[in-house]
Amino acid sequence: MTLVSSTPMLRAASRNGYAVAAFNVHTLEMLQAVVEAAEEAEAPLIIQTTVGTVKHLGADYICASVHAASKHTKIPMALHLDHCSDFAMIMNCIRAGYTSVMIDASAYPFEDNVRITRKVVEVANACGINVEAELGKVGGVEDDIIVDERDALLADPEECAVFVERTGVHSLAPAIGTAHGIYKGEPNIDFDRIRAIREKTAVPLVLHGGSGIPAAQVKRSVALGMAKMNVATELRIAFSDAIKDVFTAKPEENDPRKYMVPAKQAVKSIALAKMELCGCIGKARDIG
Ligand SMILES: [Zn+2]
Repeated sequence: MTLVSSTPMLRAASRNGYAVAAFNVHTLEMLQAVVEAAEEAEAPLIIQTTVGTVKHLGADYICASVHAASKHTKIPMALHLDHCSDFAMIMNCIRAGYTSVMIDASAYPFEDNVRITRKVVEVANACGINVEAELGKVGGVEDDIIVDERDALLADPEECAVFVERTGVHSLAPAIGTAHGIYKGEPNIDFDRIRAIREKTAVPLVLHGGSGIPAAQVKRSVALGMAKMNVATELRIAFSDAIKDVFTAKPEENDPRKYMVPAKQAVKSIALAKMELCGCIGKARDIG
């Protein structure tokens, strides 16, 4: 099928108490791995790329590959631009064929975040695609966005309600204690805050920093209303470790297929495990 906006996927997830797993990919093999996982799991799928990956591969190459993948499957798929603070880059990706974008103006004061997000929502509505925005600051490191974990600010439930109302945004990533990258200890998720935000806002909520959150905490977050979980770092590590293993065993290997196949398999396994945690297995049929 053709690529769809992530809005109907996330609404179905929110309504039915599960989350859609969203995977950051950087290579064709990583894309194939998560598509194969979604097909096997009969799960809806959100493929996402960071701004860094768009700069690395090119929005047109990414769109062409993801559109090709979607044509070969009956699984509903969306292509999402992760954490972007650059309006021109967002327009570039929409024009190329992305069906979902994140405007991350969380570094700005509230009023500026509202104004910037509203502007992206207006364009996205004209194109029928999803917009995700962030309130508060998710801790950790992602590409070149660095937030001091100690200073990471959590989202205020009242502000979330006002923000959604004033921006018309389709999905919201409130900072609730998760961080990007791999956790040094256990993440300190504020579950009461998730519940309070869920009660005050009608849009699907997004859990960032899904790498390394203990299974029980993911399940609890989803049960409280998280409708999308982003996974990036764990996939990169699995992909890279599988390649390192090949070269450790056979340093003279020079056929990319020989190390890309195990790398792809490693990504697929992680993707399947995350889908299981999100509860989205078999949910592809939820989206017409
Ligand atoms: Zn994130």
